[in-house]
Amino acid sequence: MAKYVYLFGPGGTDGNAQERNLLGGKGANLAEMCLLGLPVPAGFTITTQCCTEYFRLGGDFPESLAAEVQEALKRTEKTMGMKYGDADNPLLVSSRSGARSSMPGMMETVLNVGLCTKTIPGLVRKSGSERFVYDAYRRLITMYSDVVMEKAEGIEPVEGQGIRQQLEKLLAAVKKSKKYKEDTDLTVDDLKQLCEAYKAKIKEMLGRDFPDDAMEQLSGAIGAVFKSWNGRRAISYRRIEGIPDDWGTAVNVQSMVFGNMGDDSATGVAFSRNPATGEDKFYGEWLINAQGEDVVAGIRTPSPLNEETKNEQNRHLPSLETEWPDLYKELHDIRDKLETHYTDMQDIEFTIQNKKLYMLQCRNGKRTGTAALNMAMDMLSEGLIDEETAVTRVGADQLDELLHPLVDPEAEKKVASVAEGLPAGPGGACGQIVFTSQEAVEAANAGKTVILVREETNPEDVEGMRAAEGILTARGGMTSHAALVARGWGKCCIVGAGELKIDVQAGTMSVGGKTFKKDGYITLNGTKGLVYDGQLAMIDATENPRFQEFMAIVDRFRTMGVRTNADTPEDAKIARQYGAEGIGLFRTEHMFYGKGSEDALFQLRKMILSSTDAERQAAIDDLAPFVKKDIKDTLEAMDGLPVTIRLLDPPLHEFAPGTVEGQKEMAEALDTTVEEIAGRVESLHEVNPMMGHRGVRLGITHPTLTEMQIRAIFEAMKELRAEGKNPKPEIMVPVTCAVGELDVTKKVYDRIKAEVAPSLDVHYGTMIEIPRACLLADKMALTAEFFSFGTNDLTQMGFGFSRDDIGGFLGAYVSQGILEADPFQTIDQAGIGQLIEMAVEKGRAARGNLKVGICGEQGGDPASVEFCFETGLDYVSCSPYRVPIARLAAAQAAIKAKK
Ligand code: ADP
Ligand code: MG
Ligand code: MG
Repeated sequence: MAKYVYLFGPGGTDGNAQERNLLGGKGANLAEMCLLGLPVPAGFTITTQCCTEYFRLGGDFPESLAAEVQEALKRTEKTMGMKYGDADNPLLVSSRSGARSSMPGMMETVLNVGLCTKTIPGLVRKSGSERFVYDAYRRLITMYSDVVMEKAEGIEPVEGQGIRQQLEKLLAAVKKSKKYKEDTDLTVDDLKQLCEAYKAKIKEMLGRDFPDDAMEQLSGAIGAVFKSWNGRRAISYRRIEGIPDDWGTAVNVQSMVFGNMGDDSATGVAFSRNPATGEDKFYGEWLINAQGEDVVAGIRTPSPLNEETKNEQNRHLPSLETEWPDLYKELHDIRDKLETHYTDMQDIEFTIQNKKLYMLQCRNGKRTGTAALNMAMDMLSEGLIDEETAVTRVGADQLDELLHPLVDPEAEKKVASVAEGLPAGPGGACGQIVFTSQEAVEAANAGKTVILVREETNPEDVEGMRAAEGILTARGGMTSHAALVARGWGKCCIVGAGELKIDVQAGTMSVGGKTFKKDGYITLNGTKGLVYDGQLAMIDATENPRFQEFMAIVDRFRTMGVRTNADTPEDAKIARQYGAEGIGLFRTEHMFYGKGSEDALFQLRKMILSSTDAERQAAIDDLAPFVKKDIKDTLEAMDGLPVTIRLLDPPLHEFAPGTVEGQKEMAEALDTTVEEIAGRVESLHEVNPMMGHRGVRLGITHPTLTEMQIRAIFEAMKELRAEGKNPKPEIMVPVTCAVGELDVTKKVYDRIKAEVAPSLDVHYGTMIEIPRACLLADKMALTAEFFSFGTNDLTQMGFGFSRDDIGGFLGAYVSQGILEADPFQTIDQAGIGQLIEMAVEKGRAARGNLKVGICGEQGGDPASVEFCFETGLDYVSCSPYRVPIARLAAAQAAIKAKK
């Protein structure tokens, strides 16, 4: 029979930090802290396995659980010297969620469980404070009715009308009528009356009594924590973070310690280093006479932990360091101990009860990309970690944020900010105001860039936070839920901008005499916490030396190549700066689009619309110099590095003139009528152009087009060689499905090579982007010297999903869990991945030294890069700005494979 309950505390600890899959992160680390001898209130963890079993039984506890819980409770009571549910000496507990990986605020916790008519008088006698007991009681009633009686029962109230909000309204009404500012101003009588009013409201709203039995409360609270795994918020967070549904959450039942026992008690949250900047300073917030949730919920402005990390918002408040120096020192020592033990930045929760310190949680802290980089480099030089570990400490996705836009400091100098808050998430963001999560999602889907503005940080908002470019809240501290989540995503975020007056109903936000409406523009500087009216200019974050240093270490562990997809010499130069080791995809057709393309496009159109072979040949000859120049410039920019040049790929009608003016121009050039040209354009029309006359098929029907391109490549190479350069072009044939296509084209290649430059070597290969080519890869490899997987088309044709038409259904596929992710963003390893694996295996069997790479969009996606590494690809190729991300992901994949 499975063991479902693991004890922790001074009286004995069953688990440790290694058991996070079974005990959840919180449970495993509580056990580990006990093993380290830190002051942790005793308790026990009910395993994630029990959670899975609970759901398997349709929401019922496994039979053996009750006895295990009784036994663990008995041992906890013994350690604490109190008894659960006892009239004289009652023990209270919390019931805390905790999954394998941290999901801040997404699941539930209930505090003060075990307070009821029977235990209240005993606790009053023991604590000597009636006020404290009723404060704890009203918190229990609020949390319990919300978590156990409403959410766990699947009741979905209208937004803002849930039981918690109803009870908070009662509280606010009392505070208002008595002119109180803080919750701590409430008197014993206020609290007693409130508790009665709460219970009446619960009966009225939910049709049930608040349970007055300690054991009933405990089993309700345990079940509700399990159920919170399948709460709406938790599910959408898992989707975003790619956390599997079957992990389940553990439940930690832990003896309560009270930060709200009076003015010699407090509660707080801290990071062993600054999670926004990475600075090596103990950083945190605390509140006197408060219970856990108060700091995070932003009910009062928390005080700073120490003097050196004070900021504008909390400078006037006393720090723990000056207020209670002994306790600060004890906490600081624990900070050092934990960092040395875990060799990483820790996010910790603590509570002080009557001047005694207790540890309630520790975990590796979430951090911004900037902080991740700085901490990795600092810890490396401190000797806390080695280079290999440093490389694994920055998420490949986080790098993106380091290369992200900032508000242009010049633009910032010229205007005054309209509001100021705490810099919770770095970088800059500029967008249109929305006031609800739903509005944010809708606007983002409609292609708008939005800033989500909220009164306070609410975990229900995850989807909206995800959709927004930036987040701004009026309340909350640096450790509030929004701040934690935004930081985890590297999203620009400002919290606690206290001067904002937000009216969600009216759709307005006012500050400093100015009113902003929904859809109005604002700009956030999340690094400084400043809010601006309107749209300020943004700039790219410049390369910083630390980043360069880090990337140099990264490359020491990387074995797979990283190239870039670049179509212009400018892109090639940027990509080189980002460390690209060549071009994996150079799309020649790019020269016919955009600025400066008019002349080349004119020649191409002549070719497309010509009616005789002679006319066509003349047009091709006129086009040749443009093609050669384009290729030569790019080869020069990438001198010494390989450049994979793809032969013309798109269907020709894409370039045919669509406008009357354009057609008139071509009529003149080809000496014919506009009607005639219009007719020729019309005849090029295809029903399914993506599967039509394109790619290698163009060269099969117009061999002189292929010839011209190959000649341009050889000539460009020859000329550059003569100039003392070292060009390394490779020729790639697109959209192939049969080796015959490659053979026919190869004949042209051989002929031109013999004619122009017999001594020059240019690799000849193909893009693999049609499933048939994967199936016949052994044949394709007889002629092709390299493969490059074009995973955009391979995904399109493998799924039968038109890339340009997925908007209507793909979202539903992902949200309904039919597909785990968008296969155009991350390689579908289960399906398309098999095609790739097969093609690599077959291709290499036919040609041992076959070079293989990937040049689809997914080449810059960390999970896809890891897959490419495992599949044995020689390189990945991605857009210039994703090159550092691919380099890091490739190095991390190599490190992981070693272990
Ligand atoms: P979350 O995962 O959302 O942080 P927690 O389980 O950590 O939820 O609990 C929420 C708050 O309650 C935290 O501030 C925590 O420190 C506090 N808390 C939880 N259990 C206890 C306890 N036994 N005694 C005192 N405070 C507690
Ligand atoms: Mg916590
Ligand atoms: Mg393609």
